[in-house]
Amino acid sequence: MTIAVHQDHFQTLVSSINRQLLIDGRWTAAADGATMSVDNPATGRELTEVADATVADGRRALEAAVRAQPAWAKTSPRKRSEILTRAYHIIHSRLDELALLMTLEMGKPLDEARGEVRYAAEFLRWFAEEAVRIDGGFATTPDGDSRAIVVAAPVGPCLLITPWNFPLAMGTRKMAPAIAAGCTMVLKPAPQTPLSSLALAEILSEAGLPDGVLNVITTSRAGEVIEPLLRSGDVRKLSFTGSTAVGKILLEQAGSSVIRNSMELGGNAPFIVFDDADLDIAVECAMQAKMRNMGEACTAGNRFYIHENVVEEFSTRLAERMGALRVAPGWDEESQVGPLIDAQSRDKVDRLVRDAVSRGATVVGGGHPVPEEGFFYAPTVLTNVDPASEMCSTEIFGPVAAIQTFTDTYDVVAAANDTDWGLVGYIFTQDIDKAMNVSEELEVGMVGLNAGIVSNPATPFGGVKQSGLGREGGRVGIDEFLEYKLISMPIRRT
Ligand code: NAP
Repeated sequence: MTIAVHQDHFQTLVSSINRQLLIDGRWTAAADGATMSVDNPATGRELTEVADATVADGRRALEAAVRAQPAWAKTSPRKRSEILTRAYHIIHSRLDELALLMTLEMGKPLDEARGEVRYAAEFLRWFAEEAVRIDGGFATTPDGDSRAIVVAAPVGPCLLITPWNFPLAMGTRKMAPAIAAGCTMVLKPAPQTPLSSLALAEILSEAGLPDGVLNVITTSRAGEVIEPLLRSGDVRKLSFTGSTAVGKILLEQAGSSVIRNSMELGGNAPFIVFDDADLDIAVECAMQAKMRNMGEACTAGNRFYIHENVVEEFSTRLAERMGALRVAPGWDEESQVGPLIDAQSRDKVDRLVRDAVSRGATVVGGGHPVPEEGFFYAPTVLTNVDPASEMCSTEIFGPVAAIQTFTDTYDVVAAANDTDWGLVGYIFTQDIDKAMNVSEELEVGMVGLNAGIVSNPATPFGGVKQSGLGREGGRVGIDEFLEYKLISMPIRRT
């Protein structure tokens, strides 16, 4: 198929999505009529425009969520579960078009986009199953004089803010438990990737979600629009996924009206390969942990610590595998590495690589932007990376494996923990005691033990230290959207 035929198909798909704000069940333009551009990172050109919400639009969206809350809280868990289940099936019936939409706005290869659509849908299925398992408690107090009944209730109107790197899954990971718990919400997706969220909102309406339960505002003025909502006293829960820097700003704003919050923030994952590791597994998992989403993942392996005895073989094999990947626009079915999200991100990756090289790193493969249209960066392996390099203390967010060596287990754990972040760590060894000891000593919320991917809707996802607060997914994911209320009943003896 020629690129011209592609473009027609792309435009038809993009035009089929409602690109206005969803407030109280109605699609509306921004109050001032403003729109903002959504670009295709594989070409650098505009894909389409969406409504650009004003401060007043943000307020209207929150008011709609507040109005819808009492009735929604009273719906039966079964009804909420069935809406989620219907949405799950609709997503699967439109898997290919949702994947292409995501690829167009975000850049990831189609195959990965299909994987994300399935992963995103899985949160709907998981929380459809959890909606009907919300429980409370009953107890006799220790003195025997009272009965304590504990009931779970929805926390109330939620504000959900998502990043661009997993445009659909980061939304469903919040929306599905909120819906299951009986909360209403305002969703603000990232301005780079609003189309996936808008398509999801249409699907949830089609699945029967009542008006006002989900309100979606796309905006280029996030700070201006969000702050008054957080300070209004009407938001009862903030769930944010994004950078640690923005998370800190929002925590401060949410503090002003004591809002419950979940923070899924940045990472700086250590990827540790001991000399007794199965190197086939370690290299395969390094490909997953580094190259999934072109390295634009909070879980991406950021600092590779490879035992001195195996570093040469590991880095040679990893460079061969990374160098063989096909870098191409994501809509090309052969593509394995798509573009980075924008020019700024690509230039940041290049700056980090040049900084590491200036401090003595060796380029084993890649090490440069791809000189074509779009924001591509060549898959890159660096060895002898100086720990003082900037890439060791910041998220690379690109296809760059930065390798250091170690010999001593105690030293590598200390180095791995020497960061403000603590989202995930990867360990490769065949020694069960070492595996368990290091797993327990790493200061992280998740460990990949001989594994390159840890995310699963059925398990708790989240970090410690400055990687976040709270967990998404798993049995505990719904708790983030519930309050437990005590009804205390003394028994007066007769
Ligand atoms: P970001 O710059 O922090 O933005 C995240 C979201 O917050 C966007 O929707 C953004 O909109 C919004 N935002 C920014 N400033 C705001 C403000 N003052 N008030 C309200 N909203 C504001 O992060 P990103 O670049 O989109 O995403 C990458 C980051 O997300 C990385 O650090 C990555 O590690 C992290 N992440 C974490 C997880 C996890 O589960 N732990 C998962 C995925 C990504 P604007 O762009 O319009 O400002």
